[in-house]
Amino acid sequence: MTYQANDERYSGMKYNKTGKSGLQLPAISLGLWHNFGGVDTYENGKAMLRTAFDLGINHFDLANNYGPPPGSAEEMFGQMMKTDLAPYRDELIISSKAGYRMWPGPYGEWGSKKYLVASLDQSLKRMGLDYVDIFYSHRFDPHTPLEETMGALDQIVRQGKALYVGISSYTAEQSEEAITILKQMGTPMLIHQPSYSMLNRWVENGLQDVLDKHGAGSIAFCPLAQGLLTSKYLKGIPAESRAAKETGALKEDSVTEEKVAKVRLLNGIAEQRGQSLAQMSLAWVLRGGRVTSALIGASRPSQIVENVAALSNLDFSPEELASIDEILK
Ligand code: NDP
Repeated sequence: MTYQANDERYSGMKYNKTGKSGLQLPAISLGLWHNFGGVDTYENGKAMLRTAFDLGINHFDLANNYGPPPGSAEEMFGQMMKTDLAPYRDELIISSKAGYRMWPGPYGEWGSKKYLVASLDQSLKRMGLDYVDIFYSHRFDPHTPLEETMGALDQIVRQGKALYVGISSYTAEQSEEAITILKQMGTPMLIHQPSYSMLNRWVENGLQDVLDKHGAGSIAFCPLAQGLLTSKYLKGIPAESRAAKETGALKEDSVTEEKVAKVRLLNGIAEQRGQSLAQMSLAWVLRGGRVTSALIGASRPSQIVENVAALSNLDFSPEELASIDEILK
């Protein structure tokens, strides 16, 4: 059946300005790292993208290597663009990245201009797009001058293959340097994509200050710590979970009793707030307005519905924040 997007799709979502730019992003965005690859069920991926867009999630985050196999998530998304989302292209923010290994030889990964430009061309082909909205350097390359990597991003924008550019997982110092170089080239660094969650707070040690100083946005990946920050692992590892999946990046042995004990306490606070732990975890990442968007993953449509409902309670009392800090200490 032809897809017809929900007419009310913009009524429940919150949109935040990305740093000092003119671009707004939904407070919750959807990433296609897991569950949209060639090994996954196409119909489920399709249902998740429809559910997300119908709820006002208009930002979809991809990368050259998402799958498995690498590239297959972009192919799946390209298929969805063709059948469902093409009429809505101007309502969508689609991002991709390059940095990890995609093809053999010296130009198949990291941060050379040769790799980044070729990789984006491949991504555009797989997705059937003329341009992406945001293109990222997926990781800092210690063996390529930063001027070259940033020069590639600048060139890509000037060629019209991306509207904006970003960096992912760069440290505070690397970000400062990258932002400065890009500024000199006349292309602003729109957004940084770091990992950030209650179980992983590294961005608070300098990176957020650098981004604020330069008016750049941030989009937090793995805000649910790949599912750990939900109620899912409280009673062991369920069969239908990322930790149980062969192709999942969350390894069974990283679901430790120590982490689960903390998660149990956090779950108690979420219950007092009348939220699920997943919802509280997303609200926590978005607290104080320093994060533009929480970039979730999902394995079924119902998780997206639950996660978007986090937006109905984003406020924390000082006591709640102090109790959470105490648990995370
Ligand atoms: P999350 O931390 O949001 O974990 C998502 C997983 O948590 C889901 O696949 C699902 O796993 C589980 N989950 C989600 N909602 C619920 C819920 N309500 N109740 C119970 N379980 C839930 O993010 P991801 O790790 O998926 O990463 C999100 C995105 O971030 C990626 O798709 C990608 O776009 C980006 N990313 C970027 C990286 C980078 O280097 N720039 C690195 C990693 C991610 P389950 O299968 O167990 O149901």
